[in-house]
Amino acid sequence: MVDTSLLFSIFLTAWTCSASPPNFVLLFADDLGFGDLGSYGHPSSLTPNLDRLAAGGLRFTDFYCSSPVCSPSRASLLTGRYQTRSGIYPGVLYPSSIGGLPLSETTIAEMLKPLGYATAAVGKWHLGFGSKGMYLPTNQGFDQYLGIPYSHDMGPCHNLTCFPPDIKCFGMCDFSSVAIPLMYNKVIIQQPVNFLDLERDYSDFATNFITTSTKKKQPFFLYYPSHHTHYPLYAGPDAAGISLRGPFGDALLDLDNTIGKIMTTLEKTGVINNTLVLFTSDNGPELMRMSRGGNAGLLKCGKGTTYEGGMRVPAIAFWPGTISPGVTHELASTLDVLPTFTRLAGAKLPKVILDGVDMTEILVNQGKSQREAMMFYPTDPSEKYGLFALRLGKYKAHFYTRGATHSGTTPDRDCSVFAGLKAHDPPLVFDLEADPSEHYPLSLEGKPDLQGVLERIKKVKKQFESSMVFGESQTSKGRDPSLEPCCNPDCSPKPDCCLC
Ligand code: MG
Repeated sequence: MVDTSLLFSIFLTAWTCSASPPNFVLLFADDLGFGDLGSYGHPSSLTPNLDRLAAGGLRFTDFYCSSPVCSPSRASLLTGRYQTRSGIYPGVLYPSSIGGLPLSETTIAEMLKPLGYATAAVGKWHLGFGSKGMYLPTNQGFDQYLGIPYSHDMGPCHNLTCFPPDIKCFGMCDFSSVAIPLMYNKVIIQQPVNFLDLERDYSDFATNFITTSTKKKQPFFLYYPSHHTHYPLYAGPDAAGISLRGPFGDALLDLDNTIGKIMTTLEKTGVINNTLVLFTSDNGPELMRMSRGGNAGLLKCGKGTTYEGGMRVPAIAFWPGTISPGVTHELASTLDVLPTFTRLAGAKLPKVILDGVDMTEILVNQGKSQREAMMFYPTDPSEKYGLFALRLGKYKAHFYTRGATHSGTTPDRDCSVFAGLKAHDPPLVFDLEADPSEHYPLSLEGKPDLQGVLERIKKVKKQFESSMVFGESQTSKGRDPSLEPCCNPDCSPKPDCCLC
């Protein structure tokens, strides 16, 4: 019998002795649900490049983001800490928000910088803008940034064009903000942004970054949080009208095309075998958009809820020669990305309380997860209510449930905003292996084994909550319209005059 732990330590020894630390490419989709990719069962999505990553890499079935909405989920991905610690709650940040991800937090980029990594972010930031752009990526460890600093529905509708450009997008937008800006580092280079050229610009930027870093023989970290497939949907000329799935499928294909270009660049520059590519999503699908929204597959509800559909997301890890193709059912989370990259790069963990664990063993050996539990906070976490749900092993207990606007329109009445806050005592307990759809709560009566499970869940919950120190809420610091990024700062009347 092969001793996997011995193989693992040989691998790590070889690794730490190797001359070049691995590169990291972190691909982060937006509002892409568990059921949205062909590799997760969707029949009409067209994603040849993501299919290739899934076929040649490790596909996770039990991978979780830390929040069912954007900003908090992103904070956890980059810091390895629940959003309650960093203060990115309740809800999300807006263009005029005064707060942002505190600069005292250590991001993956800041953790890698001391080892000589080149770092770049391209796409949707959504961790704050703030006074003079103080919360932008270039102040959080990234050497370069090209992108839109928040969600692309946070601007006037007239900018949100689909392809062909004369067709207005379907649905609601925020009207009170400035036109959506495209930024390079801290400078607005286009306002409103041209969505139809955006993926091409992002691909060019990523190609340049990888090529330049490899020429300099510098290890790199590329973070690409895409705007796809968040609402409103758009797609450039290489994707519009091409998928079988309509506007959502076209937006997904637009993202897939960029991923294909990044993969080609990794191959051409000869670094593909020394690069970990990790793909996942920030939260579940926005079901309120109906057929123009994402899909949670067989999971219950979607964005905004603490049901599985809100927080269990697709995840694929690809690294030829190091990660063997396959599927893992191990429990893992976006929280685990920072500790894993830290381990693989030989970096030092930040000296703070981390909620993530190292998942190298899962990646390299398809081994066991160090993660025992996953915590589910609602979009508005509070010390009063604490965790809404907790998964321990294959069991998940819901202490509170609540629907969400984002998950409306589905036939399941538990998902919509009209399903108000409901306390469950005893909690609703599900076996997620037998019943991943959370359809059939287990009856604990006369079942001492299950009662024991619930006791363990309650114990883990109590321990976790007693160790949780809520950081100062950044989203409650209010808004100041003068902070909204404007390419023409002295113009009037705002926000309409912010056009360049
Ligand atoms: Mg999102």
